[in-house]
Amino acid sequence: MTIHYVCRHCDVQVGTLNQNDCSAEGLGFHQLTQEERQSMIEYKQDGTITVKTICEDCHDAMERTPSYHELDTFIQ
Ligand SMILES: [Zn+2]
Repeated sequence: MTIHYVCRHCDVQVGTLNQNDCSAEGLGFHQLTQEERQSMIEYKQDGTITVKTICEDCHDAMERTPSYHELDTFIQ
């Protein structure tokens, strides 16, 4: 089971994880709400999982401009 972590803002690949335990609990997904799971986790047809996360660059940008996050939510 391969999990790709991709930045939701700039699409950069943050990291890749090879996880044997692909249950929601093993991945920590059970800590998320149903809504968060649907917006963050994408199950691809080739069996990999893409998790939308945030890279350091975008995190820094958001820290600098707090309204950036609101704007992004608005666009979605
Ligand atoms: Zn980013």
